[in-house]
This record gives sequence, structure tokens and C-alpha cells, in this order.
Amino acid sequence: MSGNELRAQAIASIACRPKVAVSTPGRLEDLWAKDVFSLSKMQECLPKSVFKSVQKTITTGSALDVSVADVVAVAMKDWAISKGALYYSHMFYPLTNATAEKHDGFISVQSDGSVISEFSGKVLVQGEPDGSSFPNGGIRSTFEARGYTAWDVTSPAFVMETENGVTLCIPTVFVSWTGEALDKKTPLLRSNAAMSKAATRVLKLLGHSEVAPVNSSCGAEQEYFLVDSSFASVRPDLLLAGRTLFGKAPAKGQQFDDHYFGAIPERVQIFMQDVEEKLYRLGIPAKTRHNEVAPGQFEIAPFFEAANVASDHQQLIMTVLRNTAKKHGFVCLLHEKPFAGINGSGKHVNWSVGNATQGNLLDPGDTPHSNAQFLVFCGAVIRGVHKYGPLMRAVIASASNDHRLGANEAPPAIISIYLGSQLQDVFDQIASGEVTGSQSKGDMDLGVPTLPVFPKDAGDRNRTSPFAFTGNRFEFRAVGSGQSVSGPLVAMNTILADSLDWMADQLEAKLGSGVELNVAIHDILRDVIRDHGAVVFNGNGYSSEWHEMAVNERGLLNLRTTADALPVLREQYIEDLFSKENVLTPVELGSRFEAYSEQYIQHIEVEAKLVISMAKTIIYPAAVRYMGELAKTIDSLSEIGVEFGKDSVVKVAELTKSMMASVGELDDMLTKHFMSVEEHMQFCAQTIRPLMDQVREYADALEGEVADDLWPLPTYQEMLFIK
Ligand code: ADP
Ligand code: MG
Repeated sequence: MSGNELRAQAIASIACRPKVAVSTPGRLEDLWAKDVFSLSKMQECLPKSVFKSVQKTITTGSALDVSVADVVAVAMKDWAISKGALYYSHMFYPLTNATAEKHDGFISVQSDGSVISEFSGKVLVQGEPDGSSFPNGGIRSTFEARGYTAWDVTSPAFVMETENGVTLCIPTVFVSWTGEALDKKTPLLRSNAAMSKAATRVLKLLGHSEVAPVNSSCGAEQEYFLVDSSFASVRPDLLLAGRTLFGKAPAKGQQFDDHYFGAIPERVQIFMQDVEEKLYRLGIPAKTRHNEVAPGQFEIAPFFEAANVASDHQQLIMTVLRNTAKKHGFVCLLHEKPFAGINGSGKHVNWSVGNATQGNLLDPGDTPHSNAQFLVFCGAVIRGVHKYGPLMRAVIASASNDHRLGANEAPPAIISIYLGSQLQDVFDQIASGEVTGSQSKGDMDLGVPTLPVFPKDAGDRNRTSPFAFTGNRFEFRAVGSGQSVSGPLVAMNTILADSLDWMADQLEAKLGSGVELNVAIHDILRDVIRDHGAVVFNGNGYSSEWHEMAVNERGLLNLRTTADALPVLREQYIEDLFSKENVLTPVELGSRFEAYSEQYIQHIEVEAKLVISMAKTIIYPAAVRYMGELAKTIDSLSEIGVEFGKDSVVKVAELTKSMMASVGELDDMLTKHFMSVEEHMQFCAQTIRPLMDQVREYADALEGEVADDLWPLPTYQEMLFIK
């Protein structure tokens, strides 16, 4: 079957696709955490003393008493087997954005040949996957294959049920034989501990005698696209790269703003319900769902949770979205920019810190000017983001997010903070030396007696800011839709730990020399605003004036591509930050730079090869066939004396020649060798990518010329609008 027949068949198959049965959503109480070995389940099945010990570790972060592991293991196994599990898996989070799992059976063969199910504390606590094939950034050679997984008791175990069976999944960290972190969870746990330690120091200095452990929280909003799988299966780019490498913009895109928050298409709503049911069973509090800006784009956001658990759950959300989509005849695209010229996808990471005794430490209350504690924590964030903005840029850097950041639809690649008018005013007052009050939020009176008068928020929202204060948390809006949220959370926790340590040092010194607490706080905050206020920007982050001002007047960095951003991880001040806070050793940090740079290069080179092969084997033949048809028609017309069509054939021929010339150039460029990864990354960003775009430009122009019934690839309008 030729390409265009495949395309026609795809459209036809969608029209007669049987509907997935609409199931009535189950009762939330019946579904909730059904598949989770939760604290309440542990309480039911563990001896009291064992439960108390595990609970203490989970809620207070105290050391795990390994002697209880055997008892927990047996209870966990019995529970999993009662749910139909035959296998268990230590789940871990390697330096890719995926989750890794190795399955082991509960089966144990006895000396008489019979089998029993077995699962001991030892295997619960520690596993040993042959981890040599995971990215390790040069920490280990392949012959040094040993890696360990270790049980993270603070993230609950659960069973994962698929059509092919049930598996007990145990969240774990993943480290090398020499103890280096090879995963994304270990630094997240360490960064949280560092932040808690520093925050506790500050809270004690602020006069609190009782201070519970401080935890970071995360609520991550996930954007995604759904494309019918019949289309995706005939587009090698969607299958292999997760985005379209070719495709002419449709006549109708998102210019009418009619998709955002619009009615959710029926098939999509059924899919969403299915996803939510699975998430509820896994104890993931899915809360909002809506259409996003682009046609075919949607969003799901769970309620926020402790950062470590939220991060594991975020990985699960991505897995559940992808797997459930298949069942519904969709492909779920988590790529940051699946369709050129159409809004891309991000992940907004809402982040705050708090504890059981003082509550949310980023909650300003109604009168932030008199809330010294809030101002100290907020000031610490401002200082951290200013000092380590380039790190925040580096942790969201990827080949795919490069399509989004800095374009005029997503946050710029310059990291700044949006505070909103009320907070801005408070910090202005602090800077001027006289603090008199907080602007009141005011009421919203709509002038219609039947409509309620409601209190306004203290500040508007700013979609153009990469890092915005949104009432009681910060929202990191520049995170990539397909990436793990761990890296951004590690960065935020670590820079906050550093700033809080600095605040504590300053406070101790001032209080030690007899300065009164409120005066000391005011002085420190004034210094923070003087030295770091340059990072605060409340205006339009998309505007060219800002880009100019940020760099030239404010001294902020505009790290446009991953090739510019990743080398930040090699800077001494970043190495010092992570070492000082015990989050990553220089070796671990270095290995991350290596792993991520390699991924960036490979990602672009794979796409470039795909561009070459699709141009040669799919687009070129279509253009040639069309020219053949045209040429025949021109000849027959000319026989009866009509001169017609020569211009079109010449145009198609020119475009085809130009496209193939660019393909040849791109092919040559892929054979080059480099002295360093930095150089190789820059080459990918500066030379390979623009050449890929050039090939695409000719190909997309051809799509506008070649007869539609000869065009082999499903078009943008088909993929975006047929659901
Ligand atoms: P919006 O799209 O308006 O920003 P959503 O409701 O889609 O808002 O998402 C907001 C996210 O922020 C949710 O996941 C929510 O649970 C989370 N969130 C709310 N309060 C906090 C907080 N204090 N700390 C962290 N996340 C929070
Ligand atoms: Mg948001």
C-alpha cells in the first residue's frame, strides 16, 4: 500500500472506530488508594510496634529501623498476593525521564521441588539490578555493573495492574557500588533534608521553640497532546521522535482561542475518566482537567503532595497517560513541541515549603508586610533564584524544551521572578527603609446585585514569567512537559537551603551583636533586595525590551539553548553549592552533566537522521510522482495545443532539488568529530538544528504544492482536529 493510501485508510478507520464503552465513574471512596500499601493498610496488618516504627520514619524523617523490614515485607507480600501479584519490582528513576523496573517473582523453590512464595526484609530493603545499561555519566564502566536499589519507605508501595498481570512496585533509590547516586530520587531526598535543616535553623532564630521537620511540596500541572493512533502509526517522526519533523501549518490553528477550557470532546473525556480512575486507585489525587490552548491539547493536575511522593506520582501520571491512551486509540504526546507553530506543552511545578508546626512558610497571610517569617522565606527564594538562576535554567534544559523556551509562547530562557503588585510593594517599602502597610486585596464587585462580591487575589497572574509567586507558592512554569520534576525540585530545595543558611548566619551575627530581631530581619531583607532585586520582574517576559534589559541592565543570563545551559553544571559555584548542602558530590554532578549532554546530542542526531530518511523515502517520492503526473498532463495538453502547467512543475522541481541539497548537507554534517561535548552540543544547536529546519521548510512548501491525494503524511489539520 502506498503512503497516501495508508493516510486515507487512517482517516477512514477513525470514522468507523468503535466507541470505547463509557463506564460510570466509580465512587471515589471505593477507588481511593485501593492499589496502595498505604499507612492505613499497614496499620491494619502490622504489629503495633512495627507500624509505629515505620510511621515514625515516614512522618518525621527519622532513620529507618531495618530490623522491622522482615515483618513489613511479609505483610506487603501477602497484601500484594491478595491483589493478584506474582511479581515484585524495585522501581527507580534513572537519569532518563523514564521509570525503570526489574521484575522478580515471589517464587522460591524448595529442596523437595515444591514452591512457596517468599519475600524477605532483605529483598525489600535492597535490590541489585544490573544497572550498567543506565546512563551514569562515566561513573562506571560497563564491566563495573553493580548497582543497588534501596527501599524508600517515605513513598508508598503499590500494585500496578495492567491487562498482563499485577506487579508489586516498591519505590527505591538507585546508587552505584561505590555509593554514588545514579538516579533522580536520591538527590531529591537529600535536597529536602538540606532544606529542612536550614529552615529549622531559621525558624528557631525567629523564636519558635517547637519546629517540626520541614518538607517541600509539589503540585505539577501536566500538559499533553492526544493524536489518534491511526495517524501516529503512519508518521515515523511521531513514533520515534514524539514530534512532527515535517508538517505545514493548517489554515486554522489556535487563532480563535476556542479550544482553551472549551467542551472536552467525548472520546477524550472517556479517556480522562479512565486515567483518573487509575490514578485514584494509585492514591494520586487527580484534581483538574481541561482543554489547553492548542487544538488536541489537554491538561491534568493533581492536588499537591510532599515533593518526593509528588515526583514519584508525576512519573506514574506520565506512564498512566501513555498506557491508557493506547487503549483508547490515541497516542499521548508529552513532547514539549509536537507541532511547530502550535502552542507547546509544559509542566508547571508548583512548589512550597512547610511543616506541621508553622504551616506553609510561603503563605503571606493578609498582611505580608508584618509577616516577618514569610518575608524571610520569600527573600531567601529571591536571593537563591538570583544567585543560581543559571542552575534553574540548566535543570529544565533538554533538546525538546529548547523548542519552547524563549519562543513567544512560553517563558523566556531568562530566569526571573514574578512577585505580583502587593508583594512588590512590600519589598519596595523594605528597600526604602520604611514599612507602613500592605496594599489591601480588595473586593471584586461585579455591579450585578445577584452576583456575589468576592475577595480578589493580592496580585494578578503573569503567564510570561518562568517563576511566579501565586499566592502561597512559587510556580516554576518553564519545566518541560516530558521531563521528571525531580531536577527542578532538587534545584529549588537546594538553592533555598543555601539562602536559608545564609539568612541564619546573618541573623546569628546580628542578634549576637545585640541587634533586635525585627531590625535584623529588616536589614537583611533590605540587603537581599539591594543585591538580588534584579531578578524580580513583573512585566511582560515575552517582550524584546525585557530580553534587552535583563541582559544589559540587570546582568541576568539568557541561556538560549541546552548547549548554553548545561555547561552551568560544570561551574565551580554550582559544584560548591551542591557539595556544601550534601546534595550531589562533584563526581555525581559531573556525571549528570555527562549524561544529559550525551542525551542532548543523541536526541538531535536521531532526529536529524529521521529528517534525512523521511525526506528521502517519503517526501521526495511523493514530489516525484506528482511531477510525473503533471508532466504527463502537460504533454497531453500540449498535443491539443494548450500550453499549461509548466510553472507548477518547475516550482515543485525547484523545491525538491533544494530540499535534497539540504538533506545532503545535513548528512555530511553528521559525520563530524569533536574535541569536547561542549563543542559537539554547540554544533548540534548552531548547525544541525538549523539544517533540519531548512529541510523542513522546503518539505512543508512542497506539502502546499503537491496534490493532496498523493501526500503520504497525515496533515496537521487531520492530526489536530480529528478526534
Ligand atoms: P492553575 O492552572 O490555575 O495554576 P491548577 O489548579 O491547575 O492551577 O494547579 C495548581 C497546582 O498547584 C495544583 O497542583 C495545586 O494542588 C498546587 N498547589 C496549591 N497550593 C500549593 C502549595 N501550597 N504548594 C504546592 N503546590 C500547591
Ligand atoms: Mg498553573
